[in-house]
Amino acid sequence: MSDEPTSVAGVETGQDDTRRPVDQTAQFADVIAARVRKLLRSLKRDAAGVHPRSCPLCDYYGAFTPYGFPLRFDAQCAKCGSLERHRLVKLLLDRKKVIGPGHSVLHFAPEPQLGATIRALAGHYVTADLMRPRVDLKLNIEAMDLADDSFDRIVCCQILEHVDDRKALAEMFRVLRPGGVALLNTPVIEGWDETYENPEIDGARMRLLHFGQADHVRYYGRDLRDRITAAGFALEEFNSVEPDVSTYGLWRGERIFLARKPALGTMNI
Ligand SMILES: [Zn+2]
Repeated sequence: MSDEPTSVAGVETGQDDTRRPVDQTAQFADVIAARVRKLLRSLKRDAAGVHPRSCPLCDYYGAFTPYGFPLRFDAQCAKCGSLERHRLVKLLLDRKKVIGPGHSVLHFAPEPQLGATIRALAGHYVTADLMRPRVDLKLNIEAMDLADDSFDRIVCCQILEHVDDRKALAEMFRVLRPGGVALLNTPVIEGWDETYENPEIDGARMRLLHFGQADHVRYYGRDLRDRITAAGFALEEFNSVEPDVSTYGLWRGERIFLARKPALGTMNI
């Protein structure tokens, strides 16, 4: 095609220098392409992570990959796909032995990165979700079709910010056996005294702006703890600190909340 004369190339006009605008355009395109390639190289280099990290879930050691919106560099294990919170839960399970063979575990919205680990630890393992297929139980966390005192442990990560959390916490309290523990994780702005909820915010676009994700209905402040204890739970926390943050690629200060239903004989004390 490039050898074919065109009207612009002077076949009709007979002017040789009419090719010049085409060449300038090509030169400009080459410059832009070179700059884009350079940008992509730097993005690829930075996105791959500067320091190697360890994944406690799959024993991978190396660069992690970016994840999320906005993008978080160094967030996802390149082998098993674990994110910061999954690795934090694994460290909690390893160090605090929160789940063992004597426990029946209900795992809500089961993350594939964590499912096999929890299943291997638990004596009895049940997955649940309202919308997702391929779970053991279809359950609404705000109104669970389960008997009182059914499970020893509930794993509930990144759910409370989507639902009526007072109903969900009350239901988890009801379904847990006395002494049972719910492992809770949700985005918290520790610099805020109060949780931000706003009934005037409607629509996916505005929820993304105000609550950080199109299907979130609030952004928790540190008073999340009051909501958990108001449901009757005693509260402990497992915090991501150094050197774990740099070793395992954790989110600084992220917490797993351990909400314990009081054992028999200690209720209403
Ligand atoms: Zn991994």
